[in-house]
Amino acid sequence: MEAQYEVRTAGTADYIDSQAGYFSRVQVSCRECDARTGLTLTARGDDTQITCPAGHVTRDWRLGSEAVRDVAAAVADAGVEVVPADAEIQLRVPTRTEILPDYEDII
Ligand SMILES: [Zn+2]
Repeated sequence: MEAQYEVRTAGTADYIDSQAGYFSRVQVSCRECDARTGLTLTARGDDTQITCPAGHVTRDWRLGSEAVRDVAAAVADAGVEVVPADAEIQLRVPTRTEILPDYEDII
C-alpha cells in the first residue's frame, strides 16, 4: 500500500509552470465549484486529488504527486497541520509532452 500525502490549506495554492521561455502561475481551484481556499491536496502514488470545503473531489493534471509530497514534507517540517492563509504554496506543474484537451479551456 502506498503512502498518502496530504496538504490542507487555509488560503490558496498556486500551480507554477515554468519551462523554456514560458511561465505561468495559476491558482489551484476546485474544478466543480471553483473554490480556491480551504482545499485539501492529496497524493497517493501518482494519483492526486483536490478536495474542496464543500466535499467535491476533483483532479487536475497540473497537480503533480511530487509537488504535493514536497509541500507535505515542508508542512510537516513547519509543524503545522493546516497551511496558514498567509503562506505561499507553490506546486510545480509536471512536464507534459503533449497538451491535453482540457488544457485549452483553462487559458
Ligand atoms: Zn467544490
